[in-house]
Amino acid sequence: MPHTGPRHMTPDDFRRFGYAAVDWVARYLEDVERFPVVSRVRPGDIRAALPSSPPEAPEDFEAVLGDLDRVVLPGITHWQSPNFFAYFPANSSGPSILGELVSAGLGVQGMLWQTSPACTELETHVLDWLVELLGLPETFSSASAGGGVIQDSASSAALCALVAARERATAGAANRTGAPGRLTVYASTEAHSSIEKAVRIAGIGSDNLRKIPTDDRLAMRPDALAEAIDADARRGALPCMVVATAGTTSTMAFDPLRQIGEVCRERGLWLHVDAAMAGTAALCPELRAIHDGLELADSYCFNPHKWMLVNFDCDCFYVSDRGALVDSLSILPDYLRNPATETGEVIDYRDWQIPLGRRFRALKLWFVIRYYGAAGLRALVREHVALTRELADWIGSDPHLEIAAPPTLNLVCFRHVHGDRAGATLLERVNASGAAYLTPTTAHGRYALRLCVGQATTTRRHVEAAWELVRREAARVAAGS
Ligand SMILES: *Cc1c(COP(=O)(O)O)cnc(C)c1O
Repeated sequence: MPHTGPRHMTPDDFRRFGYAAVDWVARYLEDVERFPVVSRVRPGDIRAALPSSPPEAPEDFEAVLGDLDRVVLPGITHWQSPNFFAYFPANSSGPSILGELVSAGLGVQGMLWQTSPACTELETHVLDWLVELLGLPETFSSASAGGGVIQDSASSAALCALVAARERATAGAANRTGAPGRLTVYASTEAHSSIEKAVRIAGIGSDNLRKIPTDDRLAMRPDALAEAIDADARRGALPCMVVATAGTTSTMAFDPLRQIGEVCRERGLWLHVDAAMAGTAALCPELRAIHDGLELADSYCFNPHKWMLVNFDCDCFYVSDRGALVDSLSILPDYLRNPATETGEVIDYRDWQIPLGRRFRALKLWFVIRYYGAAGLRALVREHVALTRELADWIGSDPHLEIAAPPTLNLVCFRHVHGDRAGATLLERVNASGAAYLTPTTAHGRYALRLCVGQATTTRRHVEAAWELVRREAARVAAGS
């Protein structure tokens, strides 16, 4: 009988192709600055370059790697370009990429402590390190009643927090008989859309999300929050959670955590703090005011996959009472029973998240923290914050531009003085040049351009070049040319 099984890649071939793939990535990262930041393909172009049916016979791996340049690269928007100033950064770094590689090589399913103790214990340990590195409240450390876990995203963290909050507010009834229609959730009008999505998925419904007005700095008004909660309670609703944002996506506004926390404490609501991008800044003691009052929070998350040199996906999610989270998410079928779980001495992270399975994501975080050291990570944040301050000064003194919201940390929002249409034209021209990529938002009801300084390799030279481009195009738009 001839062997008819699959043709596996031999260890020797894996080495050869692996080195080639690493070379390809290294070359990409060397060259990335030279590409137009935004992909210029039209819808369908990438699919048109692909065969309509999958291959029946095995293909040479060289051919597969070759198609990266031919098929894939033209359709890439270069998030790793130092000229990427759009949305939020999606950092990657050498040690993080290698962490992903090792994680893939181990191919571990870390759903239970038992299914790979290192996957769980390294994660718990590195998340405790981050409590220290960011100066987070001790209640979030695993030595207390709380602890941290890596989620795929801030969206999932918000949903897990909401499910735990929902169960706490209903004494477990929502899980048993379905969420009663009386639950209400609160976030500012500037909160991320993932909060409303979580409210929908948790069965509470968008109509029961109260969008609390903001002040002149686009931060949530605690007085308006208290009023909304009290009005709902009077009508017989069951207010269950407030989401405060530390660094809104649109303009990097900071909700006043301490005052919001006090409102929540007085009324028994769960407080979740979403610091997806800004949290990383707390690496620097001089920037920790962004977390003032965080000890009043029941849960908190930030994304090292935005601004801390760790590849997507890596959201660090902390709770101050892990029992509340685990109680709301744990179901133990017979096929997952095991002696370690029975002892109650181990963490089974499947109970801290929505899926059962989980990757060994702590590796990339561990690699990054060790490779850069706390000092290296702080240096990245400090450089970006300093560049952003300078840029905000340049924008503020330009005759054709004005600041649209108070610039904080690594984000500046600005307008064209000739109005919204001029702003949109300016953005279009800057992005069409391929030399920089910015995205728009709305601040105080008006069109604004956002420029976020956060890419791993962005330095003064890149910010200066982007500014020169923006300045020149803003003048052309003003002149009507
Ligand atoms: C980016 C962002 C999110 C969403 O992050 P994901 O991890 O992609 O879900 C949520 N909240 C804020 C404030 C953000 O900036």
